[in-house]
Amino acid sequence: MIKLFRFLKPYRLQVVLVLVLVFLQSLAELYLPTLMADIVDRGVVQGDTSYIWRIGGLMLLVAGAGAVCAVGGSLWAARSSGGFARDLRSRVFAHVERFSLNEFDKIGTASLITRTTNDITQVYQVLTIAMRVMVMAPMMCFGGIVMAVSKDAPLSLVIIAIVPVLAGFIIFVFRKAGPLFRAMQTKLDKLNLVLRENLTGIRVIRSFNRVEHEQRRFDGANSDLTDTAIKVNRIMAVMMPVMMLALNFAGIAIIWFGGIRIEYGHMQVGDLIAFIQYSWQIMFSLMFAAMMFTMIPRAAASAARINEVLNMTPDIRDGAASGQTLASGPSLEFRNVTFSYPGAEMPALKDVSFTAGPGEVTAIIGGTGSGKSTLVNLIPRFYDVDEGKILIGGVDVRDMPQESLRKLIGLVPQKAMLFTGTIADNIRFGDGQAADEDIRRAAEIAQAAEFISGMNDGFESPISQGGANVSGGQKQRLAIARALVRKPGIYLFDDSFSALDFKTDAKLREALQSEIADSTVIIVAQRVSTVMDADRIIVLDEGRIAGVGTHQRLMQTSDVYREIVASQLSEEEIA
Ligand code: ADP
Ligand code: MG
Repeated sequence: MIKLFRFLKPYRLQVVLVLVLVFLQSLAELYLPTLMADIVDRGVVQGDTSYIWRIGGLMLLVAGAGAVCAVGGSLWAARSSGGFARDLRSRVFAHVERFSLNEFDKIGTASLITRTTNDITQVYQVLTIAMRVMVMAPMMCFGGIVMAVSKDAPLSLVIIAIVPVLAGFIIFVFRKAGPLFRAMQTKLDKLNLVLRENLTGIRVIRSFNRVEHEQRRFDGANSDLTDTAIKVNRIMAVMMPVMMLALNFAGIAIIWFGGIRIEYGHMQVGDLIAFIQYSWQIMFSLMFAAMMFTMIPRAAASAARINEVLNMTPDIRDGAASGQTLASGPSLEFRNVTFSYPGAEMPALKDVSFTAGPGEVTAIIGGTGSGKSTLVNLIPRFYDVDEGKILIGGVDVRDMPQESLRKLIGLVPQKAMLFTGTIADNIRFGDGQAADEDIRRAAEIAQAAEFISGMNDGFESPISQGGANVSGGQKQRLAIARALVRKPGIYLFDDSFSALDFKTDAKLREALQSEIADSTVIIVAQRVSTVMDADRIIVLDEGRIAGVGTHQRLMQTSDVYREIVASQLSEEEIA
């Protein structure tokens, strides 16, 4: 948790202000019972009315000043820790944005969300309270003891007897509740995971009639979290009454012994009243400290989870070959590339070599799981190769800054992803500076113009979350338009034509031809008809290249390719 405090730095003046205000507030509160004792002993007992007025007025002033300090302290505490939480959140978010897919795989999306929201809130809450209690509790406790002793030393023995008992009890509660608080964060992660899966997979869940099963799964995670929360709260609930009981017993003892001391003339009535107030202040300060301490384990667990995210350095770093601007349509070369996913037994790509030149269409075909998407994802460095090199325009992709590398690339991913906003927003995502005319043209080439104009607001029609209000094929075409508007040197189409019918597929590829003439184009496909007229077809089989060549050549030389062709032809003939 200490490590996170570096984010408090911009607010250090405010924090100091809070500490000073709380300090002043504590002084005021420590002073009040003494004034009260004076009023009783000198004013009331001796019948000195003007003294009562004078000290009474002073008490009002002190109390008023204390109140102002209290309000100010709370206000600035809330402000500075609020700012701290905001900075921390944006820092975590910015950091996560730089993660490669490896890091996402490691922590998991659900947990990343909890860490950015709930975990930061935990730390924020403790910080808000701690800033005040940190000063308040020791001030009131030790100040109270000093004041109590100065009022009547022998009677202070009562307080000295009760404090260790309370402290022991607090430590006991702290020990018990700490691990449970930590467990709660993990259980919250689990709940978020199940909830996320349920919300995103609602169609699948309904269609497979798994609603009840999922309900049970959610109930399981939910009651798991609830049980822990109840356990924690049961412990915490015991704390308050026990403390109050101790406090009241202490009160009885003080009045009892105090009464005896007054009877023998060792003590005055006003001092006894003040003494009782000091004893309350001491014990309440202990209680506040205890409450803060019970919150700390949970916040510490949260802080550790946040730090884990912040300390994770992205595997993928910028290369140094900056300033190098590559001509549009650079060549793309794979040189003996081997790559395995972390923890996988078999490499997803093994010794893959090929060159794709500008103005050429290189198609990649192969069964599912043959490594096509993996090959495409290595080019923008979503992952780094284990062996070999990927060269763009003769430069290793690892030697380029990621931004300039990705500027060269127009990727249409296998799972087309749209964002909330309008259709135009989504296409403009490819190039923020794109003019309306460019967007229209990109949509036309992507064969999306027709369905867009059929929508109520045309290009201004809204896209709902995840693009749920357009079909799979429409989504793919918008994703293609988004890549086109970017006018990149390298196009990567990862199975981007799979949801299109044969006619649209053909029309789209024809329109693409003229548009992307100088670019290097990689088209991943499962359909033979999509790749047939490519300049070069690469056949992937279990991560290895099983053949390279044109359609005609592969028909003669590659068994794997012939098999693929045969299976698709027979399918169509049967249909
Ligand atoms: P294709 O796109 O040809 O269907 P992929 O490139 O997606 O195939 O997958 C190739 C292999 O890599 C598969 O065996 C798959 O299980 C594995 N794989 C894909 N993505 C991951 C990942 N994120 N983590 C681990 N293994 C993966
Ligand atoms: Mg794929």
